[in-house]
This record gives sequence, structure tokens and C-alpha cells, in this order.
Amino acid sequence: MTATAPHRPAAVIELVDATKTYPGEVHALRGVDLTVDSGELLAIVGPSGSGKSTMLNIIGTLDRPTAGTVRVAGHDVNTLSDAQLSALRARHIGFVFQHFHLSPGRNAVDNVADGLLYAGVGARERRALARTALERVRLGHRLDHRPHELSGGEKQRVAIARALVGEPELLLADEPTGALDSASGRIVLELLRELNAAGTTVCVITHDHEIADALPRRVRFRDGEVVADSGTPVARTADARPGSPIADTATATATHHSPIREVRS
Ligand code: ADP
Repeated sequence: MTATAPHRPAAVIELVDATKTYPGEVHALRGVDLTVDSGELLAIVGPSGSGKSTMLNIIGTLDRPTAGTVRVAGHDVNTLSDAQLSALRARHIGFVFQHFHLSPGRNAVDNVADGLLYAGVGARERRALARTALERVRLGHRLDHRPHELSGGEKQRVAIARALVGEPELLLADEPTGALDSASGRIVLELLRELNAAGTTVCVITHDHEIADALPRRVRFRDGEVVADSGTPVARTADARPGSPIADTATATATHHSPIREVRS
């Protein structure tokens, strides 16, 4: 009988020795190695100034590394022009921000339809898809409301609908619950989980321990470096061979929260 290699999903994000130095010798990222597989749901944690937003901007192709390799959805960002990076973003990446970034004068449908502005979809279809996305975040009863007529949690759900309307394979959320009360934050977390269960890879920067502890993988930054990574549940399962001493532990940690593992001190 031929042994079958364990299935490992494709990487959506691959950083190899990624470095970002801002003018004035500000070392925001110091040689970060990170692989995120398709279908993962992970938290990026760490103190203020540790490089989390810089990394999210680089993964989101909003910024380029100073050195090192960054691959997003299989594309090496160093080889792409700005126009190609915009196309990559439009096709593959959705963004959610702490303060929602909604257009104040426009209703929920129009705000969500904006998520398809660069997707080559006609205005009528954009609005139809926006309505469906708002129903998915359970805001079907708020289609005509403008941001000032919505609660914080509802605004963030509109922003999530805008991020998901183009069906990106990767969703990046920068402190998505940072401006919300804890009940609204839990609803947002549940939506991110639902999106992930439907196949979207989700990467969340958070200071909120309740959110981070609820996610299957946590990557901790300090001073521009990854200092701890609780690991990829899928990879841990795939690496465990029957009969291997780590098999039981790996299978157990694939379905339960694993303790964060220090990789550097
Ligand atoms: P975090 O998101 O963890 O708070 P950041 O990625 O925002 O951390 O910042 C990492 C470091 O890079 C900090 O020292 C910050 O002051 C610096 N930094 C961030 N953005 C810029 C920028 N555009 N120009 C110069 N320095 C920056």
C-alpha cells in the first residue's frame, strides 16, 4: 500500500526574513518569518509599537518590506507593480479597521457596495451583492441606515460586510473590537469565526485577551520580532504520524486551544 502524504493546505501568507525599516533607523520589523495556511484563523498580539500594524500593512500589500520576501496568495509582492498590488488586494484581501472607515453620508448598502468598486461589477449587481452581504452579517433590517444611525457594533458589521462582499480569501482585521463594548465585540468575533468556517483565512490584530484566547492560533510580536507562535493547528495534525509520541498531543491541540510557545526570548 502506498503511504499518502498528509494534506497540507496552501499558504496564503508567507513572510521570509521580512524587514521594515522606516527613515530614521526605526526598525519596525526585524526579520519576520511567518507562514499562514489557507483556512487559518489567527490573532496577532503584542504591545503597542511592536510592529503589528506594520506587518498587517505589509501582508495587506499596502506597504512593501524593506528587505525579505513576502508572498500573498502565491504572489511575491516584490515582483508586482503598484497597479498589480491594487488588483491583488481587490481580488484577494478584505480589510476591517478599528474605527470602521465608513462613508458618513451614505447608507449601509452603498458603503458595502464600495467593497466591489474595483472588482469590475456593475452598479446594480454591486448593490444586490451588498444587500446579500448585509443579510449575512444580520443587518438586513438596516440597509438604508447611515453610519450615524447605527450602533458601534452595527457599524463594524457593515464594515465586515464591505470586507466580505468581494469574497476575499484573506480577511485582515486591525483591532476590530477595539472601539466596541464587549457584547458587540463578541458578535464581531462570532462573525469572523463564521467567515473562517466558510473558508476565509482571517488574521486579527487584537489587544483583547478574550478575543485572542478564543482563536486557534496566536502569534506574539515584540520589538519587531515574532517572539511566540502557538502554531498552525492543521500543520500540527499533519505532522503527527500514527504511533509518533506527539500524535496524541498534536491531535488534541488541533481541536483545543494550545498554549503559546516561546520561539525566541
Ligand atoms: P503596533 O501596531 O504594534 O503598535 P507599529 O507597526 O504601528 O506597531 O509600529 C512599529 C514601530 O514602527 C513603532 O516604533 C512606530 O513608531 C514605527 N512606525 C510605524 N509606522 C511608521 C511610519 N509610517 N514612519 C515611521 N515610523 C513608523
